[in-house]
Formats: sequence, C-alpha cells, structure tokens
Amino acid sequence: MRKGARGPIPTPVEVRFWAKVDRSGDCWLWTRGTTAFGYGVLSVGSIADQTAARVVAHRLSWELANGPIPDGLFVLHRCDTPRCVRPEHLFLGTKADNTADMMAKGRQVLPPVREECRNWHAYTPENTYRHKSGRQCISCRRARRAALSQPVLEGVM
Ligand SMILES: [Zn+2]
Ligand SMILES: [Zn+2]
Repeated sequence: MRKGARGPIPTPVEVRFWAKVDRSGDCWLWTRGTTAFGYGVLSVGSIADQTAARVVAHRLSWELANGPIPDGLFVLHRCDTPRCVRPEHLFLGTKADNTADMMAKGRQVLPPVREECRNWHAYTPENTYRHKSGRQCISCRRARRAALSQPVLEGVM
C-alpha cells in the first residue's frame, strides 16, 4: 500500500478485528459472518486500491499475533470452536493435519465406501488387505495365487 495517501487514516485492521470479537468467555468468538464450516470471515483492504479481500478470522488473528502464516500451513483450533479467534487456542498445521483434524471432529463427509470387491466378496476386515494403492480383496488374491500355482502345461501334452 502507498505511504502518505491522502484522505482519512483508515482504522487499523486489528482494531476493526477485535471490535467484532466477543472476548467474554474462554473462547473468543467472532460475532460477524461465518463460512459454511463456521469459521469467521471479514473483509479487509479497500476496493479503491484493489486490496479488498475476504479473510478467515482465525487466520487473521493468528497473523496479527504471530506474523505471516508460512506457505502451505493451516491455522487449526485446539478448542474445536471454528468461530474462536483467541490466539492461544490456535496452532499451525499441515493440510494433512487439517484433514485429520476435520475427520476426527466429523466435519468432513466421506464418500461412501464400496463394501464388496468386483467379484462381490465382502470387504470384511478379515478379507481386506491394505496396500499402498488401496485395499485388495484377500479372496481374490488367494484365487489368483491358486490359479498361478496350477501346472501351466497341464493338459497340453
Ligand atoms: Zn477457543
Ligand atoms: Zn474378491
């Protein structure tokens, strides 16, 4: 942003930010708009100088307290309260942490898992073999192995 711009001095973002936070409880709650996940959002910057943007409140809170968020990291909640912006309740994590955290807290809807293999063997724990590329059906694997161990030339002579 340009220094020494004319016009009224804009209110610093931290002042505007904390004016919208209810700090009466243990969790400091954002009192304005939220995203679908319940995270607080606010508008920053100005349309005039094209710095207008919507930012997530708890991310801004973390930045106000700690400085810029390193690339690729997420600001997560220790308190499991999406609307909370108390810096002490926030910590940095990776996308994997974020996903694990969301799943642990039941905030992500997982796609339905198919219950049978393509040969309609049930994927029970006993019949499921975990593999790097996904799960495999143990019955099918066993059938493939049995087929491979058959004498190949049987019947040819
Ligand atoms: Zn909290
Ligand atoms: Zn199978």
